[in-house]
Amino acid sequence: MLRSVILAASRSSRVERLVETAPFTRDVVRRFVAGTATDDALRATQELVTNGLSVTLDHLGEDTVTAEQAVAVRDEYLSLLAALSAAELTPAAEVSLKLSAIGQKFDEKFAYDNARAICAAASEAGTTVTLDMEDHTTTDSTLEILAKLRADFPTTGAVLQAYLRRTESDCRELASAGSRVRLCKGAYKEPESVAYQAANDVDKSYVRCMNILMSGQGYPMLATHDPRLIAIAEDRARWFDRSPDTFEFQLLYGIRPEEQARLSADGYTVRVYVPYGDEWYGYLMRRLAERPANMAFFARALVSK
Ligand code: FAD
Repeated sequence: MLRSVILAASRSSRVERLVETAPFTRDVVRRFVAGTATDDALRATQELVTNGLSVTLDHLGEDTVTAEQAVAVRDEYLSLLAALSAAELTPAAEVSLKLSAIGQKFDEKFAYDNARAICAAASEAGTTVTLDMEDHTTTDSTLEILAKLRADFPTTGAVLQAYLRRTESDCRELASAGSRVRLCKGAYKEPESVAYQAANDVDKSYVRCMNILMSGQGYPMLATHDPRLIAIAEDRARWFDRSPDTFEFQLLYGIRPEEQARLSADGYTVRVYVPYGDEWYGYLMRRLAERPANMAFFARALVSK
């Protein structure tokens, strides 16, 4: 119930204005978002890489409605990639991209062209791109664009969401040699017709999908903070005889940093998803919807100000 309310609020511009101007907001945002400028993103990346972690950077923003906005997002990624390369932070750092931020909602061909330019710049910088997955109405389009991008940039990463009923089948399709696939639970509010609703069913689907990816030929990127799923992943790595360079764990910036360090110290590749930029509102609200403890953090920030 609380999750539905927060996810609804994440789409409300009135609530957005209220939250953005609230005095406690800055502290809450700082926990989950690296900052607003490219330099902030570079600083956070440098610190994580120095500590032995890999990074994927997300320039915040989604559901772009004009071509000018989409081009501005594309250009931000191009300059980010140039800056990462100049700072010698590639290939440790790659980028995550939401197709809706570069025009997918109003012109798929235009979004593909923008994504292609970003993949070319990533390749030039010695790194790669992962296409974030958004709500289920975009899944087919995103996977089609992914397939086209992979023809020229085979390391372009996919994201699959365990809460979708279709995902086991998508995992089978994508578990081929060289295929980088991030598996996450899924962050959007989806109808029962397409998505498991009970947390336990989502977890069971995650394990089935993980089995397919870990037993396949591709490069699984296991994105979760869930201690049970991380333990199962460690077990499957032993079971399927996967060395640490053949898969990775991924966690979000600011979430379970001790676990990030623990996994890294145990020899696993750990990639931290680092969001930055002005448009942090939708991202932050999804993080709050995921976990009551994040709400408590929010509330503590509110009363301490
Ligand atoms: P949850 O069900 O949220 O939590 C399970 C358990 O994990 C909790 O019970 C608790 O024990 C532990 N836990 C969780 N959070 C914390 C915390 N803050 N502190 C301590 N313990 C905690 N979603 C998409 O839809 N599309 C994407 O492209 C996408 N990309 C992602 C990339 C990365 C790297 C990650 C990590 C997530 C991504 N997500 C994406 C979000 C994802 O779908 C989930 O919404 C999010 O990760 C929460 O699910 P969870 O697996 O962490 O488990």
